[in-house]
Amino acid sequence: MKTTQKPLGFEEARQIILEKINPLGPEKINLMETLGRVLAEDIIAGRNLPPWDNSAMDGFAVRARDLENAGGKNPVELKVIGDLPAGKQWKGKVAAGETVRIMTGAPIPAGADAVARVEITREISRGRIQALAPVQPGTDLRRAGEDVSAGDMVLKAGTEIRPAEIGLLAALNQASVSVYRKPRVSILATGDELSPVGKTVRKDRIISSNSYSLAAQVTEAGGIPQNLGIARDNREDIRSRLSRGLQADIAITSAGVSVGEYDFVKEVYRKLGVKIVFQRLSIRPGQPLVLGRKNKKMVFGLPGNPVSSMICFEEFIRPLIRKMSGDRNIHRPEILARAGESLEKSARYTIFLRCRLYRRKGEWWAETTGPQGSGILSSMVKADGIMIFPENQERIEKGDLARVQLLRDEMLGII
Ligand code: AMP
Ligand code: MG
Repeated sequence: MKTTQKPLGFEEARQIILEKINPLGPEKINLMETLGRVLAEDIIAGRNLPPWDNSAMDGFAVRARDLENAGGKNPVELKVIGDLPAGKQWKGKVAAGETVRIMTGAPIPAGADAVARVEITREISRGRIQALAPVQPGTDLRRAGEDVSAGDMVLKAGTEIRPAEIGLLAALNQASVSVYRKPRVSILATGDELSPVGKTVRKDRIISSNSYSLAAQVTEAGGIPQNLGIARDNREDIRSRLSRGLQADIAITSAGVSVGEYDFVKEVYRKLGVKIVFQRLSIRPGQPLVLGRKNKKMVFGLPGNPVSSMICFEEFIRPLIRKMSGDRNIHRPEILARAGESLEKSARYTIFLRCRLYRRKGEWWAETTGPQGSGILSSMVKADGIMIFPENQERIEKGDLARVQLLRDEMLGII
């Protein structure tokens, strides 16, 4: 089933996959569960933060006017009319010459307009203090609504929820929040040679590691993996499992898309009404990647080699999951790094190279992690990033700048 048309390029394939994708519908979930999710609603503050003027310090609520001339040599004596811990409200009013002992967070009593922190006061007896420095009106006060005013739009739909957003939502008393649903992604391994993880393995079998790496990639991307097990290389087994898989938001099949004798996957796609959008890309690894579509649902036929499978997921399915999850930044962060070695290839392909990143004299450098065969999983394990060596380019000289996608974004913290 050779096609003669020119294989599709990396960016074109990505565009075909990502265009016209909208976030999945919203779901309301407990605030505690929202970390890493994307808001599906605008959040309007229903209250002021803080709710009332309160003390920013432990000290004494005072009238700034009383302390106008206070100094070390000219202490101003005040009468302490009461104590105000956080969580209590002062009923009365602070009159001239009076003060209320106040703790951080307690509401400022009526009449007072500043706080004299403990450090600028001296206690002369229980019930009497001296202020040793002046304060301005508003000193060490936190004004009602200075953080957030009731009615403000504080978070927009499309915002990724981090701990700070959770804190703000909690402060606004939002016990549940509407977020975009997580895409469900079915994963079907295919191949007569495959054995499940954790069982006794026959001599002629290999373990279906793709079922695991793909599930982990789905989870990391913010999707929900659904493992459909292993289909044998026969049409009926693939068909019955994949028809189940098509109920997910995205379906992935692993292997059986090359031109081998037992590669039935594409045939089964067609039987199930999945239209093949493309089936050959000018990329390596990942050349035989298949994209199928049934109505709006996408089906990916990934090549079986463990690294091809992971790279195809990274480049095409991860951004799709992010987009369906409502995220605005769907791609991995990318840097320009200097190639640690000279590299050469045909102009016909985009090549993805597993690389290790390091800093030298304030610059990023990237060197390949060793053998780059599509079955060499250990060089994927060593990778901090994926270098993109684009189509139409035959050489990268040592020291040239190249695009590198970061697989560990903490790397950005290294300076
Ligand atoms: P295929 O795409 O069927 O030609 O398979 C290509 C290579 O990937 C073969 O060496 C397979 O044994 C290997 N392979 C296929 N499926 C898996 C899997 N689920 N886990 C690990 N390796 C696999
Ligand atoms: Mg096979």
